Amino acid sequence: MQIDINKISNSRIAEVDFNQLGFGKVFADHMLVAEYADGKWQKATIQPYGPLSFQPAMMSLHYGQAIFEGMKAYRSDAGDILVFRPEENWKRFNKSAARMCMPEVPEDIFLGGLKELLKLDKNWVPSQDGCSLYIRPFMFATDEYVGVTPSSTYKFIIFNCPVGSYYAKPLRVKIETEYIRAAKGGVGFAKNAGNYGGSLFPTQLANKEGYDQIIWTDAATHTYVEEAGTMNLMFIIDGALVTAPTGDTILDGVTRKSVLQVAKDWGMDVQERLLSVEELVKGIESGKVQEAFGAGTAAVIAPIQTIGYNGKDYDLPERKPDGFSAKVYQEINDIRLGKKTDTRNWIW
Ligand code: PMP
Repeated sequence: MQIDINKISNSRIAEVDFNQLGFGKVFADHMLVAEYADGKWQKATIQPYGPLSFQPAMMSLHYGQAIFEGMKAYRSDAGDILVFRPEENWKRFNKSAARMCMPEVPEDIFLGGLKELLKLDKNWVPSQDGCSLYIRPFMFATDEYVGVTPSSTYKFIIFNCPVGSYYAKPLRVKIETEYIRAAKGGVGFAKNAGNYGGSLFPTQLANKEGYDQIIWTDAATHTYVEEAGTMNLMFIIDGALVTAPTGDTILDGVTRKSVLQVAKDWGMDVQERLLSVEELVKGIESGKVQEAFGAGTAAVIAPIQTIGYNGKDYDLPERKPDGFSAKVYQEINDIRLGKKTDTRNWIW
């Protein structure tokens, strides 16, 4: 696919303080835009990041055909721009698209377009310790039409945000037993916008109770733990790595997949299985549950310190520097920064 490039006349990069980036508020100069119409993808363009115009009846605003991805690019010590497993994000994006009746985005637009965009905006990939370029591909329905039916036109866009270092402070999380994120037969495995909209209210309630995040449980019975906020949830129980199996209700995380692979390579017992709230809470009390953590692109590993359930707080043991979550963080972080030989072919 040929990509037309319309470069910005004056880069905004000189105005950016790369030591005060925060997350998601600074945007790189360019974005990739591709349009789907007449049953096929039209030419893609790279153009200055900036406002779009649309009609009030644009369908995605009303009926929720909107999906996204999130991944990161890093600058290695040698100055190369490295992206961690973006093919996985591309595949997941197209699974989300299929579930939402949206067209799949071909590799030459998603990954080929990303490569051109990163070449153009390579100076926006921070070199500061812990910083990275967050990549946000997304797609939304653009027909001007009132009526619940799939749109016939779509826009696919990638923009990039240089982001600051993510300090993973140990989390306080609450096991949610009233609200749900995803149900069997639903869209929990897809990264569609509505999943996140629906999570805001229960998360806000948990925040008011002093928790950072929610642990979602199965929608039908609230018996089994599933995910934590926007991370997959993992435990070390009696030395084994335990996490919920993927399925309708769980996002198939790239970090999750990577952590499981590293654990298997290290010869650990890896258990993808249902874990009940009861087993978890009893296991914390008896000391069988040695570690709890979230796994996701933002933090890689976010250690969990306290789990709240039915009004009672259960504290995990203090995090050890030679514990699994600390070691696997180091391993994946070193790979994504190019500090360690990429034997698993994860770097792009
Ligand atoms: N679960 C949910 C609901 C998420 O939004 C995310 C973030 N994409 C994850 C898990 C972690 O996925 P990944 O490791 O691919 O970032």
